Amino acid sequence: MAAYTCPVCGYVYDERIGAPREGFAAGTAWSSIPDDWCCPDCGVREKVDFQLSEGAAR
Ligand SMILES: [Zn+2]
Repeated sequence: MAAYTCPVCGYVYDERIGAPREGFAAGTAWSSIPDDWCCPDCGVREKVDFQLSEGAAR
């Protein structure tokens, strides 16, 4: 599984953890996240802006 980082605030979406407060359960694949989903921390960047950080998350 991979993790994706917001280039503005550093929020990390980890597929293994998901984003329960956003309604995405643990294990939700990045491909299942809507393209218009915004970063829950800064609300500035959308999904397409997130950077893959595979391997960085343990
Ligand atoms: Zn952000």
